[in-house]
Amino acid sequence: MTADTLQRVNLLGLPKVELEAFVGELGSKPFRARQIMNWLYKRGEGDIAAMTDLAKDFRAQLVERAEILLPTIVRTQVASDGTRKWLLSAGNDQAFEMVFIPEEDRGTLCISSQVGCALDCTFCSTAQQGFNRNLTTAEIVGQVWLAIRELSRELGWKIGDDRIITNIVFMGMGEPLANFRSVVPAIRIFLDDLGFDISRRRVTLSTSGLVPQIYKLAEEVNCALAVSLHAPNDELRSQLVPINRKHNIAELLEACWHYLDEQNGRSVTFEYVMLDGVNDQPEHARELARLLRDKPAKLNLIPFNPFPGTQYRRSPPAVIERFRDELMQRGLVVTVRKTRGEDIDAACGQLAGQVTDRITVRLGSKTFGLQVRA
Ligand code: SAH
Repeated sequence: MTADTLQRVNLLGLPKVELEAFVGELGSKPFRARQIMNWLYKRGEGDIAAMTDLAKDFRAQLVERAEILLPTIVRTQVASDGTRKWLLSAGNDQAFEMVFIPEEDRGTLCISSQVGCALDCTFCSTAQQGFNRNLTTAEIVGQVWLAIRELSRELGWKIGDDRIITNIVFMGMGEPLANFRSVVPAIRIFLDDLGFDISRRRVTLSTSGLVPQIYKLAEEVNCALAVSLHAPNDELRSQLVPINRKHNIAELLEACWHYLDEQNGRSVTFEYVMLDGVNDQPEHARELARLLRDKPAKLNLIPFNPFPGTQYRRSPPAVIERFRDELMQRGLVVTVRKTRGEDIDAACGQLAGQVTDRITVRLGSKTFGLQVRA
């Protein structure tokens, strides 16, 4: 095989051990991997040729065998509250979104893990789009890389001078635990001190409740866990979050406490979308309190964000307040999520990107992706 036909390795998204192995294959010492990571993540360098402290020969080898491939930005939108949303291309007319939410004491980047989502939660606009494909580790890590570059440029900061992104949340498009193989290495790079070096309490994976994968996650990485609960009993939760029919609330909570034990975590955040007349009544609050009282749990109430065609409405502010008070009176720790970026459809559950629904068909040894919805 000639160098031209060899597929180049994307350096972005290779965790340290894999990067060391690759560098080893090229006949170099493991410390070269550290140097590359330093350029990539600390200095935000996207051009191998500009990595000037790498020996010339090694750099030439790298240029030939490797590349730094990033998703391309299709559109940038800025909301009146400073929230930014970027639409990123996933090729083949597919796109996904990431959102930056600036606050006084932190900058949160909300990233996607899939193009679309296969889970069908009834109140989520991503679900209405269907599922196209998993993002690669490079596409997940590339979101953070790109956001840092874009924001630094805008602010006139040199990358590495100061932190723009202090928190990362997997609350964009997709179910991260359904893309375990790409998400776990991405988290490793977020946490690695040679990577983005973000504290494990500031990287949050949000899941709709894929129970077996929560157990697996506990063995693999150490980050904060958020769980989309949305209902205090199985009957209602199965309607809103259909995966509940497979893994019910009791199983889910069991997995959460196990995760905390394994990870030495402090608490799990339970997300609860406030749907007018559906799950927002005082009896729901009381049931929820019985479920989570005296447990290492925090509740985050999310006012529902409407999208075209939805059957739901947001609970009125007074109802949300009453619900919160019912929970607080019973000793629960509760916050109400501030809705951000609404004027650009960047709020939770409004990310739709551009997804063509696909199903995967296996015939013999071949796999085909078929478009099923335009
Ligand atoms: N698949 C992951 C990440 C989803 S998005 C998960 O299910 O946790 C992050 C949060 O936004 C989840 O709690 C999700 O249930 C919630 N959400 C989805 N649609 C929403 C909407 N229309 N309004 C408010 N929150 C929504």
